[in-house]
Amino acid sequence: MTPLADRLAARIAATGPMTLAEYMLECLLDPQQGYYATRDPLGAAGDFTTAPEISQIFGELAGLSLAQSWLDQGAPAPFALAELGPGRGTLMADIWRAATIVPGFHAAAHIHLVEASDPLRAAQARALRGLPVIWHARADDLPDAPLWLIANEFFDALPIRQFQRAGPAWRERVVGLQGGRLAIGLTDPAPRPDLADRLTDTPESGIVELRPAAEPVMAAIEARIATRGGAAVLIDYGDWGSRGDTFQALRGHAFADPFADPGQADLTAHVDFAALARAAPALHASCLTPQGVWLDRLGIRQRTARLGHSLQGSARAAHDAATHRLTDGAEMGNLFKVLALVQVGAPMPPGLEPGPEPDRVRETQKAGG
Ligand code: SAH
Repeated sequence: MTPLADRLAARIAATGPMTLAEYMLECLLDPQQGYYATRDPLGAAGDFTTAPEISQIFGELAGLSLAQSWLDQGAPAPFALAELGPGRGTLMADIWRAATIVPGFHAAAHIHLVEASDPLRAAQARALRGLPVIWHARADDLPDAPLWLIANEFFDALPIRQFQRAGPAWRERVVGLQGGRLAIGLTDPAPRPDLADRLTDTPESGIVELRPAAEPVMAAIEARIATRGGAAVLIDYGDWGSRGDTFQALRGHAFADPFADPGQADLTAHVDFAALARAAPALHASCLTPQGVWLDRLGIRQRTARLGHSLQGSARAAHDAATHRLTDGAEMGNLFKVLALVQVGAPMPPGLEPGPEPDRVRETQKAGG
């Protein structure tokens, strides 16, 4: 089979440069040679690891927070317990196990997983064997029901576009060919009314990232929670606003050239949580909260001590190190953030505080805040 790099080069030669979003989509999800379509990328033997793979406590605390939020909203039954991009199914398995202690939760929940990768769907089926699971290709296919949803490191994998400021106009960073090889290039400057707000906070030649594919996902979440109730808890690396060029490739737990070997590296970019909140204007967003703070508030210290009780020596050290990695400001504790979205007037899930009312979110956006 023609390697993906050659197919992409042929396509660019025929029809011109592609946006970074088109490039990311092909590299990650091409059915034959895309990164997620062809492998399980997680864990020590893979390219990166994630919080639920580091410690079971992450999923346990997330699960209890979701279950308490479900109780706080009157324990509607039935409801959809959903996850976007569930990886190996580890997070959902831990959520489910932790929620065993919440009366009625299991009986009322139907698990809905939104997953594009066949190898990962198979891993999820193994991790969740015997549970009431339904898979979907898109968030749009989630049922019309009360929705408690979680997503960890899902939005960072959705394709981005990048625009570089040129005076009052913008040049898009696109993937073209240089000496027959894939390389980044710039379009001619053009006005972009949708980026008018960003002229105030972007210096000359500064870069703004947009993630158009997140918008229909947020609209699907908004439609269900606004009318049927529930909560969405979104965890990812990123910030409130976009922060210049954050496009990166990871391969074998190290940074790689994103254009060297299409389909062979994980491609991601920081998540702009303000853009996610803006794409669900009918919902109330929590304060954007560092993962370490969220886990501390949910009791990670107590749970770590409790679980560590029976461990000794190197097993105990590894157990404590996992919690340190999830919470420490120099590790994942600060880079990763948590945002919850609920109906206006509904309580926030435990561990998170209400942010400004939705109208204020749009104002702080305009001010670049
Ligand atoms: N949440 C998991 C895995 C994160 S990796 C964890 O924390 O371990 C990203 C996940 O999102 C994978 O399951 C990947 O297959 C899925 N994914 C990436 N792009 C997707 C898309 N466009 N639609 C659905 N799933 C996608």
